[in-house]
Amino acid sequence: MISEHPRVRFAPSPTGYLHVGGLRTALYNYLFAKNQNGKFILRIEDTDRNRFVEGAVENLINVLKWIGLDYDEGPAKGGNYGPYMQSERLDIYKKYAEELIEKKHAYYCFCSPERLSEVKEEQKQKGLQPKYDKHCLSLSREEIENNIKSGMPYVVRLNVPPDLKVAFDDIVRGHVEFDSNGIDDQVLIKSDGYPTYHMANVVDDHFMKITHVVRGEEWLSSTPKHVLLYDAFGWEKPQFAHLPLLLNPDRSKLSKRQGDVAVEDYRAKGYLKEALLNFVALLGWNAGDDVEFYYLDEMIKKFSLERVNKSGAVFDLAKLHWLNAEHLRKLPDRDLLRLLREELAASKFKNNDYSDEYLLKVITAMKERVSFVREYIEKSPYFFERPETYEENAVKKSWKENTPELLKKLIEAFSKLDSPNKEDYENVLHKTAEELQVGNAKLIHPVRLATSGLSAGPGLFDILVILGKEETIFRLQDALERVKI
Ligand code: GLU
Repeated sequence: MISEHPRVRFAPSPTGYLHVGGLRTALYNYLFAKNQNGKFILRIEDTDRNRFVEGAVENLINVLKWIGLDYDEGPAKGGNYGPYMQSERLDIYKKYAEELIEKKHAYYCFCSPERLSEVKEEQKQKGLQPKYDKHCLSLSREEIENNIKSGMPYVVRLNVPPDLKVAFDDIVRGHVEFDSNGIDDQVLIKSDGYPTYHMANVVDDHFMKITHVVRGEEWLSSTPKHVLLYDAFGWEKPQFAHLPLLLNPDRSKLSKRQGDVAVEDYRAKGYLKEALLNFVALLGWNAGDDVEFYYLDEMIKKFSLERVNKSGAVFDLAKLHWLNAEHLRKLPDRDLLRLLREELAASKFKNNDYSDEYLLKVITAMKERVSFVREYIEKSPYFFERPETYEENAVKKSWKENTPELLKKLIEAFSKLDSPNKEDYENVLHKTAEELQVGNAKLIHPVRLATSGLSAGPGLFDILVILGKEETIFRLQDALERVKI
């Protein structure tokens, strides 16, 4: 069933942070919806009360907002198919669990945890796959009523039919088949009255009119249970698309132990949202060409589920780094200015005043040399403060006995300049070198060292123009006093 306007959902459990795999799922759903003129829905799967994390939903919504994946329906926004928080839909699950019990597709189970582990133990010893033994399926209506009346705790289980092939066609993985004998009588409603993931997920996908379920491969083994549930209800199934696993470079499953997995961590490290989106888009998808640099609108145009790969996608940090540098370079200057101001506000220079004009000059000089916004400060601190020290090796190499004498002449020549531009500085330096009968390098290196404290950076004359004549001369004089050889 390909509806004209697909409805897809991102259905995270609020764990307190957004996993990069979750971001990939959200993005693919978003891209698919936008490409197909459909709707992208956010649904919060918060039925596991043991894992409740204060503020997790707000955090999730904030991260999605920051990264620019705006949902059409969901918490805090509403829509025609809400509520979009599962914890607010408990009556619905209860009602439909009862319907399944009525139809004999589900049943009450009163087994104690002790009995369940005994059964499991026995099965294990016999070399069987541990599975609920359907003990309570044979309880009479009367027994059930009495148990409930006497306050015995119970769960509701799916009655999985034996000897059945459970099959579905996955857009990414193709035809998938499971043997129902390998499927446990899944709990649908827990003893605390809350639904399990399977129950709530299927009921919600049905009533929210979800046409395509696009989620990570780790959910593939749940899908036969969902297929059984759809069939038990007599509901039409959505199409499924299971996205490839994310792998570490050593091809193990991407895990927290090997590095950051939270989008929030990448954000804190200074990765641009444009780069992160671009990076996760390529974790399992390509447009069939060699293009790797994408903006969101281009991805929307090119995206299709048919071009999602089956095989695991390696999480390559070097590529994220590269994409960050590429996106940073292509960002319009006004955005860079805003980001640099944010960075400065969080730095030791927060109380300094810099004009837009000044910062834009720094941006122009440094643009090709930085991969992160913070590197505007880290790589060229001399635009924000006078050098406190001078790179030792560079001093050894280029600060000679006669350097002070040469610099004094240069200071004299610079002093005579009136609002010098790049060429003025360059001409004067060349002329001075000529007069002193030394090579240009004898002046260039010490001047760079004196004004920046460093031996490398953008064009020296660009630095001087940005610093201005007065500051340039101050720093030259200061270095004459402070550089010791
Ligand atoms: N709540 C599940 C998760 O945390 C949703 C899986 C699905 O999309 O069905 O990812």
